[in-house]
Amino acid sequence: MNTQQATERLKTLKNDLQRRASAIEADLSVRLDRDSGERATQVENNEVLRGLQLEGAEQMAAIDAALLRIQDCAFGKCVKCGSEIGAERLHAVPYTPFCIDCARSLR
Ligand SMILES: [Zn+2]
Repeated sequence: MNTQQATERLKTLKNDLQRRASAIEADLSVRLDRDSGERATQVENNEVLRGLQLEGAEQMAAIDAALLRIQDCAFGKCVKCGSEIGAERLHAVPYTPFCIDCARSLR
């Protein structure tokens, strides 16, 4: 994957995440039923949605960071040890800042 392809993929991913974020935002802005049996379910759903929202925000931040690394010609290199990130790994997670070894050691 060259940097142009990577940029395209990252931007597509980010667009998807932004769309999903707006959908979540819309769902969360629906007012809760005051005193119906639905309320508990709604509260539960909202918690799930907030989790997804957080996850999406983290992914978007990782994508922005990856786009910056492309500008710095540092894309595809592990930010921790500086070695090349495997092509397969980049293909699966194009915004990852770590090579597989460092990703494992961070867990
Ligand atoms: Zn590394």
